Amino acid sequence: MHSSGEVSVAEGSFEWSRLLRRIRSGGAYLLAACLISLAAYLSGADPVFSVILFVLSVLAILVQQGDEQAGEPLAVLPEVVANDDGEPIFPTILSTLQALDLPVFVIGRDGMLRGQNYSAQKVFGELSPGQHISARWRSPSILDMVRETIATDEPNQIEHSERLPSERVYIVRIAPVPISEERGDEALFLLSFRDISELRRLDRMRSDFVANASHELRTPLASLRGFIETMQGPARADPKAQERFLAIMLDQANRMSRLVDDLLSLSRLELKAHLAPDQKVDLVPVIGHVRDSLAPLAKDLEVDIRLHLPEEKAEVLGDRDELVQVFENLIENACKYGQEGHVVDVYVRNPPGGPVEVSVLDFGPGIPAEHVPRLTERFYRVSVADSRSKKGTGLGLAIVKHILTRHRARLIVKSAVGVGTEFTVRF
Ligand code: ADP
Repeated sequence: MHSSGEVSVAEGSFEWSRLLRRIRSGGAYLLAACLISLAAYLSGADPVFSVILFVLSVLAILVQQGDEQAGEPLAVLPEVVANDDGEPIFPTILSTLQALDLPVFVIGRDGMLRGQNYSAQKVFGELSPGQHISARWRSPSILDMVRETIATDEPNQIEHSERLPSERVYIVRIAPVPISEERGDEALFLLSFRDISELRRLDRMRSDFVANASHELRTPLASLRGFIETMQGPARADPKAQERFLAIMLDQANRMSRLVDDLLSLSRLELKAHLAPDQKVDLVPVIGHVRDSLAPLAKDLEVDIRLHLPEEKAEVLGDRDELVQVFENLIENACKYGQEGHVVDVYVRNPPGGPVEVSVLDFGPGIPAEHVPRLTERFYRVSVADSRSKKGTGLGLAIVKHILTRHRARLIVKSAVGVGTEFTVRF
């Protein structure tokens, strides 16, 4: 077989060009053998010795030709699968399979491998034709399935996972290539491997997400129910307690509505993830607007938001509202989590010829390195209690990441524990 991607075919048909090539390459050796033997005979050597020399030379030629055949192993398989008109069908099947982006092996009724397409070579490497499939797949479920299909001519499929070189899950299917009944013994079977690892990963992510979202909603709901029951029962005649409970209930209801807003925001962003925004947006007024809208929060937290803006515009292609959401999230996080630093610095940089960048720096407790790569995962929080107490939903940075992906921008996080954190958006 050829790694260059040529079709590997177990041709049973006779090939004149190959025979001529053999004679041509073998002819030179044959002539040399005759000449050596003749020279030995003429120089007075024993005729028996000359004959032995000749035989040895011929044997050497045969061995050389055998090696050449071993280099093209499929060609030695004797089986010719033909249609009813006697035309070989195997080459046609295999060349059709080459066009498929699905790893497919062709096997005979004896369970021996007859060929594989490029995609199979790419995924599973080159397998020697003439080898039984059990030499490559030891999984009893695959082998049983193949055996059953070979015996019944009915297609079958199973799920199969491989651990090496990386964890993958396949739907392995075997189906016979339909040929006429008289030729049943020559039947070929296609063994295909559909990789569903990515689908499985997405499924897992979706169910994790649903579980997380339900969990986040269930907590405030349970607390609401608890307070309602208390107010209907023990606190029925206690207006002071009722007032306190109502304030907590309002807080919980607000938390649920923040969560639902964030979830809706995420799902809207997912719907348009592939559409790159095409409006020109100047980030200088955007950052000014965000600072103004966060002023009350900053005042409550006693944090000073300092802007460091360029003289000229800092324009990017974007969606203004979404960019406001990005910087609101980043600056709000810096104020909330970096409150103890009392200062949040925001730099907008627009170097000539370089990318536009916005950095948000705080001087808070910082984020331990092991958390940094996971910050943009949905519901990921360094400390759940800390985030909840600061009215966090755990979805803010996931939303930021979605928006930035749509804007073809990157989020770079640098943090040092005890020093502070810097979130940079690079367009
Ligand atoms: P949340 O709604 O919890 O704020 P985010 O997705 O915005 O969710 O942030 C995820 C987590 O990242 C936060 O819970 C917090 O632990 C951490 N975090 C984000 N920004 C900062 C920051 N500037 N300093 C320290 N920790 C931060």
